[in-house]
Amino acid sequence: MSSVYRGRLAPSPTGYLHPGHLSTFLTAWRRCRQADGILLYRMEDLDRSRCRPEFDRACLEDLALFLNWDEGPDSDGAMQRSGPYRQSERHERGLYLEYWKRLRDGGFIYPAPYSRSEIQKAARKTGVGPGTHGEQIFPPILRHPTSEALEFEEPGNMAFRFRVPDRSILFDDVRLGRTGFHASRDFGDFLVWSPEGYPSYEFSVVVDDHLMRITEVVRGEDLLLSTARQLLVYEALDWQPPAFYHCALLRSRDGQRLSKRKGSTTLRGLLSAGWTVADLLNSLEEGFSPALLDSISATKRPDSLEL
Ligand code: GLU
Repeated sequence: MSSVYRGRLAPSPTGYLHPGHLSTFLTAWRRCRQADGILLYRMEDLDRSRCRPEFDRACLEDLALFLNWDEGPDSDGAMQRSGPYRQSERHERGLYLEYWKRLRDGGFIYPAPYSRSEIQKAARKTGVGPGTHGEQIFPPILRHPTSEALEFEEPGNMAFRFRVPDRSILFDDVRLGRTGFHASRDFGDFLVWSPEGYPSYEFSVVVDDHLMRITEVVRGEDLLLSTARQLLVYEALDWQPPAFYHCALLRSRDGQRLSKRKGSTTLRGLLSAGWTVADLLNSLEEGFSPALLDSISATKRPDSLEL
């Protein structure tokens, strides 16, 4: 394995970037630069119903104000060593199919043609509650034998789920230390392929992080459960996982998560309200000044605030 640090920025173009995204991306940038590594920009734009070209453009423009990367959709041909850098293009090239087939042949996945309401109904009937982060656990009564996946040459528009084992998944997070979840109790069988015909987030990031030779994944703490799911995919594909660094989430002074808060300000909103790039960077360096936090949650005018 290469000893060069390789990190990535992986935004999803489903909206304008928030300070919370910036905080995570700056951590990813700083850790990569401190290690003298290579930073990749990968656009996670598989979900066609939520991603838009204008957000794709805006993500690139907004992030470029604050930090730089070495390879990405905007870099010139000579620098494009690990592309394509948009998941939609990787999917068009059929890059995920080969690994879907490996999961199929290895007996890790099964077809799961159920609507959301069928899943909820089965969960209610069998008393399957939500998992650790409140998402509905896929009710085991709807599990199919993994041998049924072998009837499919390609996934097409069939949903496939990963059959999780009934055991703990443990990993050493770089910031948080030993972290663990119980696969069947905390999250359950997760989507590998969506009924809309594209690979799921959990599956596509593992394939991409592996093929792009990422050595450390920096992401928000809200994705801890996803990391546990992804570790199962690494195991199934017999790949060495990268290191994981989960950042603290940006919270308002009353402890609420800012990115989830209704009306929480975008980077564009803060800049047009008069904050400068330097203000924001300084504030982030200090671990978010109270003034910025208030501004993000209340969109107050910055000229009335002390930085
Ligand atoms: N694209 C994901 C997001 O914007 C992050 C992906 C990751 O870090 O794996 O939430």
